[in-house]
Amino acid sequence: MIFQLNKSINERIKLPQKYNVELYLKREDCIHNFVSGNKYRKLKYNLEEAKYNGFKTLLTFGGAYSNHIAAVAFAGKTFGFNTIGVIRGEELEGKIDTNPTLQFAKACGMQFKFITRDAFRLKNTNRFLNVLKKEFGGFYLIPEGGTNTLAVKGCQEILNNTDADFNFICVSVGTGGTISGLINSSEANQEILGFPALKGSFLQEDIIKFVTKKNWSLTTNYHFGGYAKINADLVHFINQFKENQNIQLDPIYTGKMMFGIFDLIKKGYFPEGSKILAIHTGGIQGIKGMNGILKKKKLPLIAYENE
Ligand SMILES: *Cc1c(COP(=O)(O)O)cnc(C)c1O
Repeated sequence: MIFQLNKSINERIKLPQKYNVELYLKREDCIHNFVSGNKYRKLKYNLEEAKYNGFKTLLTFGGAYSNHIAAVAFAGKTFGFNTIGVIRGEELEGKIDTNPTLQFAKACGMQFKFITRDAFRLKNTNRFLNVLKKEFGGFYLIPEGGTNTLAVKGCQEILNNTDADFNFICVSVGTGGTISGLINSSEANQEILGFPALKGSFLQEDIIKFVTKKNWSLTTNYHFGGYAKINADLVHFINQFKENQNIQLDPIYTGKMMFGIFDLIKKGYFPEGSKILAIHTGGIQGIKGMNGILKKKKLPLIAYENE
């Protein structure tokens, strides 16, 4: 039970000559049209586990523009699972048709349950899970963001043996599953640098649950105020990057990471001669929704050809 995958290549990023480092971007965003990047890696072994144990239904949690919700919906459609998305924000119930992510998930057959932000915080309690079981019957539970042991196992497959000569591996961090996989499959002399897309100190502990190595750190200066927070500078950076490199970044994760990498290069963080590999974890489906928000705020839009 595996998707047909495209190859994920390491693409050289053009940098001004004065910076004596090499930067490559691993195009995990290209491995699949709908289940792109790390969301595919995180689902792979979970889908096998669900099938093996005879589950007919997948249930998971997410926000209004979640890449994970879109990925689970598509995977369910492809492999014959019913899918249920428990969505943060009751007010979204009447707005499915103006939300590109929810629209896509619905078209894939996902059934939604909209809950308040307060209820969402309690989503992992036994009490709430029992409510869900009464409502939907048995289901295979995939956590918010898709991170669990099997997801980390899948993310260990992002790096391959041709990546061993990179000195630094850079990745965006949401729930920490992807960076955990990268850490586990890294070489001892490589340094894994995570760029959290949100504020909060809990991530460090979440990652430690999945890894034993110590060759990693998080740089907390590039979250732009928090999850899905974005400003005109970041939009400008993403559009400039697209123009110069012909690669689309997303505003929630990979745009912030790449902004951070460029800033660290300028500041001389990476020693001369360093070879840096950044992971393009995907997330392109989130651009439409973000542009809707930017439009309302009268901020510049992300250049995106599918609009
Ligand atoms: C979900 C996501 C991440 C974060 O991955 P975690 O495993 O939750 O840390 C990074 N980039 C993109 C594009 C994502 O969709």
